[in-house]
Amino acid sequence: MMLIFLGPPGAGKGTQAKRVEERHGLRQLSTGDMLRAARAAGTKIGLEAKAFMDRGDLVPDRVVIGAVEERIQNPDCARGVIFDGFPRNVAQAEALDAMLARLGKKLNAVIQLKVDDAVLVARQANRVKETLAAGQAVREDDKPEVLEHRLKVYHGQTAPLIAYYQERGLLRVVDGMAAIDAVTESIEAVLRK
Ligand code: AMP
Repeated sequence: MMLIFLGPPGAGKGTQAKRVEERHGLRQLSTGDMLRAARAAGTKIGLEAKAFMDRGDLVPDRVVIGAVEERIQNPDCARGVIFDGFPRNVAQAEALDAMLARLGKKLNAVIQLKVDDAVLVARQANRVKETLAAGQAVREDDKPEVLEHRLKVYHGQTAPLIAYYQERGLLRVVDGMAAIDAVTESIEAVLRK
């Protein structure tokens, strides 16, 4: 099964993808996590990605697309993948279509987690408060001004994917503002169909 979780930063894509990963034996493929790991390891990709990520901009398509293509051919992805945070724009979506066609695979569904901006801003303020209370450093891209920019990037570059996948009959919309378990249940209902 090949799924995409689509939604703004902080919508809960990662949390929900981990749950679906465990229940269905799929592999969560988060390009954000891949890029953060590359940064931590100090690889060329990580160094290239750093400035884009800290500003809340998208990392260049070729970097992300190359990393995804390599990753989905790993044996642990054989049962299927949940793309979390990829694709982020139409060029990436087209590259993914081409990639899957080459590999003889096909997308089953694109699950959009719908969350209003005001809710995302409030969730993030909470996260920052908790991080500071725990005496930890706030991630550069979790700062309020960067979130604002990331939301702009989402609406400008990523949200057009809603129409892209709707036209292809793949889009399923889930209310991402419900309680975490209720969101999981809505996703399960989509997967049962
Ligand atoms: P995320 O953890 O998915 O919110 O991603 C964190 C940051 O990594 C984003 O703000 C981007 O800078 C970068 N990033 C993650 N996924 C992609 C992608 N598919 N294309 C471009 N940049 C990405």
